Formats: sequence, structure tokens, C-alpha cells
Amino acid sequence: MIKKSRKVRDYKALTKVLPTVRYVDPEKVFIHLQNGRCKTYDLVVKEGEYVKLGQVIGVRHGGFFEQPIHSTVSGIIGPISKKLHRTGRKVDCIEINNDFKDTKHEDLFDRSDEEIAKLTQDDFVEIVKKNSLVGLGGSGFPTYIKLATKDKIDTVVINAVECEPYLSSDYRLILEHPVRVVTGLQYIMQALGVKKGLIAIKSEKDPLYQVLTQVLEVKFPDLDVKVAKLGNHYPQGWEVEVFRWALGIDVPHGQLPTKYGVIGFNVSTTVGVYEAVKHNSPVIKRHFTMTGDAIKFPQNIRVRVGTSVRELIELCDGYKDNVGDVIFIMGGPMMGVSTVTDDVIVSKTTTSVIVLKNVEYKEEPCVRCGSCVYSCPTHLEPVAIMNAVKRNDKEVMKGLEAFKCIECGLCTYVCTSKIHVTDYVRKAKQLIG
Ligand code: SF4
Ligand code: SF4
Repeated sequence: MIKKSRKVRDYKALTKVLPTVRYVDPEKVFIHLQNGRCKTYDLVVKEGEYVKLGQVIGVRHGGFFEQPIHSTVSGIIGPISKKLHRTGRKVDCIEINNDFKDTKHEDLFDRSDEEIAKLTQDDFVEIVKKNSLVGLGGSGFPTYIKLATKDKIDTVVINAVECEPYLSSDYRLILEHPVRVVTGLQYIMQALGVKKGLIAIKSEKDPLYQVLTQVLEVKFPDLDVKVAKLGNHYPQGWEVEVFRWALGIDVPHGQLPTKYGVIGFNVSTTVGVYEAVKHNSPVIKRHFTMTGDAIKFPQNIRVRVGTSVRELIELCDGYKDNVGDVIFIMGGPMMGVSTVTDDVIVSKTTTSVIVLKNVEYKEEPCVRCGSCVYSCPTHLEPVAIMNAVKRNDKEVMKGLEAFKCIECGLCTYVCTSKIHVTDYVRKAKQLIG
């Protein structure tokens, strides 16, 4: 039977109704010195040295940009060790022992509303660049590059759809701090000289609609920002789908949305813009979802960047009794990366860790049901790409446009034979990349 599906079970009820817990005082933090976009780094501090909160301790080098590295506590620099990054790679992390004083570095200061009103696009770009802000939904793309666009933008879109199952930290962030979200959007609109804003939410997320419309009406009466309720299918949070359903704009594959007068930002990134501009602060804490069927008390946590996931599992009352083997997914279950260790550190781009009982699924041979083809949001033929990978036929992989895959995971989700089809398509992208 063909399973054409753009619906996935969301499991958000595990966490979305609970207020976010604060866990911001770990004894030590581990700051990633490398990440998916930056392979090398230089440090300007040594072991044993004292650093303040928000102090620059080094710089990461990316292909076409540099990223200052900030301390997320005040305290004493420790050794460097290898820890898992959310990309699944082990990378160098520097330990900093927290003195629990949060002594701020002089670089952290507040700007008045009058000062902010005078900032130019170049000023915003410089502020965000110095504070090392990147796409906090997981992309890790430097935000200053997006803010520096010279294209004429008609609408700034905040993507609050959060369509990945289990994740609800953006939902809680909006519910608990709507003014920060809208102020961040206001700053982005000012930076880009844009008059119109839009916050895209899932239609079912009614409390967000009420909170946002009320805050806009009462606190931002002069701001032209609408709240759009979109559909509840997956991957509705894919930016291309958001622009299509919220604004009727179709951005073709490989094209920049700014060429079509639109630009999108994730919710946490928008709050990151607020923190950078208002408090001249890098990302020190973030909203984070710790959930799954293998831990006792899933919840959303406001966590300091650099905190060990092991501590957060303890905060969630630990593992369920007799749980057996578990897997850890960094990010959402559809697009995230899985690992078998809990020795994971929250980086500023880690949205969540999902701890699941490890159920072994036996892959069966493909029955050519076509479910993967009917469900693919980018209109690919995942089964044909999989067969081309098995034959190592790169010409066919190119002809089937495997490069258009957004790695949403739907083809695996719907597969009748429980084949990890997405892994094959991802492999095809690497082979023809
Ligand atoms: S993972 Fe790629 S091939 Fe599979 S459904 Fe999503 S976009 Fe299509
Ligand atoms: S790969 Fe899976 S979903 Fe696709 S045709 Fe084969 S059995 Fe069906």
C-alpha cells in the first residue's frame, strides 16, 4: 500500500506544556573550538588563566569567515579535550571552571533605545559579527552575512514553525519571551530597512498566536508585523515551504530568498540578535529540549552553552528504569545526528537531545511501493537514487537531482520496508557533490 505522508507523529506533548527550567550554573563548561563550518582555531588564553563572562578566548576559522570564541562563564581556563559536537564529530573543547560570579567582561554592556534607533545596517552587521551570532536553529550560518545583504527585501520572516517531532524549545521561548522575539525582529527590520515582518507559526499552535498578536498590538502598535498560521504537515518548517505558504513566494532550488524580496530567521537566532544589539552579548544561554522515551522527566531547559548533556539527563531525573540500550539524537529525530554516548556538550547550535530506547528495526527488501516517491517534498525519486548508489552510478544520481535533497528524513519515515533511504540519498549527495 502506498503511504503518501507529510504528517509525522510529533511527541511534543512530552514537553510543550511545561515551563522552561533554568539550569545555568554547571561547575564547568566545555566550549567547542571547532564546529561543522570551522576546522581550525587560535586561542588567546592559556590553562590556569582567569576569564570573564563573554570574554573573547580565541577565534575559529571558517572557509570564508572568522568567528570569535566567547567564554560563557567567569572562571579559570582548564585543559582541552575531545568532545562530541552536534554534527556527530569529536572536536576540541576547552574547559572553563565556573566561579559562579558571572563577572561580566567590559565588552558586555547595554545600549539605550535611543542609541539603537540610530544604528545603520553596517553597525548591526558589525555588532552581530563581533558577538559571533550564527543560525541557532542548527544551520550555524553566520548571521552577519545575512544581515549584510544589499538585496531589496520586502518582508522579514521569523520561522517559528518548529516542525521536527519532539522539539518545543522555540514554542516555549516565544510563549515565555515574546517581547524579546518581536524586538529582535524589529532590529532585523531596521538593519535591512524593511517595513514588513511576518512570524510564521503552525496553525495548531494557538497560544502562540494569542500571545504574539497581543504583544504586537499592545507593545508594538506601529510595527507592521503579521502572524501567519501555516499547515501542520512535515517539513512545513523548511524555509522554502514557509515562504510558499505564508507569502506565496516560490524560491527555486539554489536561489537566495533575498533575490525574491524575502529573508528568514529562526526564533532563537532572532532572540540572539536582540541579545547582541541590546546587551552587546554573545550567545551565553539558550533554550534547549531534553526529551525522549528513555528519560524520566523530559523538559525544556534554559541552559548555559558548554553544559554537559549528562548533567541535563540528571536534571530530568535520569534514565527510565531497565531501559536497556539507548540512542541519543542531537537535533530533531528526522534530520538530527544519532550517537550512542551521552558525552555530548550543548553548543550554541544544539537545539535538543532526544534519548530513545534503541529499537532494532530489521530492514526488508524494497517492495517498490513508491511511498518514498509520493512523500518527498522536493519531488525526487529516493528509491531510484538508492538503487543508483548501490550501483555507484554517479551519472544517474546526477540525473535524478539527488543534490536537491533537503535531508528531511521523510523517505525513511514512510518506507514500508524500514530502509534508511535518506542515508542513501545523503550518500548520493556526497558522491556527486
Ligand atoms: S530526505 Fe531527501 S529524498 Fe528523502 S524525502 Fe526528504 S528531500 Fe526527499
Ligand atoms: S524504498 Fe521503501 S518506500 Fe521506497 S519504494 Fe522501496 S519499500 Fe517503498
